Amino acid sequence: MKLVLVPTPIGNLEDITLRALRVLREAGVVAAEDTRRTRRLLDHYGIETPLVRLDQHTVSRLAGLFETRETVAYVTDAGTPGISDPGAELVGEALRLGAAVEVLPGPTALIPALVASGFPTARFSFEGFLPKKGGLRRRRLAHLVLEGRTAVLYESPHRLAKTLRELAEVYGEDHPVAVARELTKVHEEVFRGTIREAMARFARPKGEVVLVLAPAEAPSPDETALLESFVGQGLTGKALVEALVEAGVAKNRAYRLAVEVGRRSQ
Ligand code: SAM
Repeated sequence: MKLVLVPTPIGNLEDITLRALRVLREAGVVAAEDTRRTRRLLDHYGIETPLVRLDQHTVSRLAGLFETRETVAYVTDAGTPGISDPGAELVGEALRLGAAVEVLPGPTALIPALVASGFPTARFSFEGFLPKKGGLRRRRLAHLVLEGRTAVLYESPHRLAKTLRELAEVYGEDHPVAVARELTKVHEEVFRGTIREAMARFARPKGEVVLVLAPAEAPSPDETALLESFVGQGLTGKALVEALVEAGVAKNRAYRLAVEVGRRSQ
């Protein structure tokens, strides 16, 4: 039993490897998150392997597929299965069943967006989709800031404006951001500017987007000393923010530092 994860184009049908095409042709079955979309790809390359649907709600069907086929090829809507889609869950299921798992290298939105941003690539955080709301979402954002690495986020177009506003709250409006939109498609665009400029430019965006944020400054030795002293005095939350502001730390920054302290103590 073998599950092969096959990356597929994120917009341009030419972005598929020779090996991916061979695996799709030779597999016993192609399982796909969206069969209509994958059918177009298979038809384009004249591949006639049987196609079945397998999405995040039907991962348990993998066992049934292995009953009659030795090799199952899996493709998601676009890009590399396992990156912000049901692929990771399916790998877990395959391993549980004792199947071998093979992952082909290939297209993904994350890497071209990161590299095109022009920000440092040696260390980066991939956040995928943020939690939709609430405290966890705010904590994740604050954490990204304090990690001091380039950060990559996936976002849907209708949530982009809201997410940019929240990013402005934690990073500050002048912070550099890149918005990679419709990568590899006819209207591909990589916007580079401040979060403020991105908010003006993407008030009502269309198409698929990846957000890339330049690394924020890590806490300075002075900030670390202040934090240690105030936290040592038992200050948390709002009281900690106020003490930091009184000590001369900018309000946005104080908020970020306090959120991170709260997160670490959980
Ligand atoms: N597995 C995919 C990958 O390897 O990138 C990601 C799947 S996730 C469900 C879909 C998200 O990827 C979109 O909301 C968007 O953030 C990003 N994305 C996919 N295709 C894109 C494209 N052509 N241009 C920009 N972003 C894209």
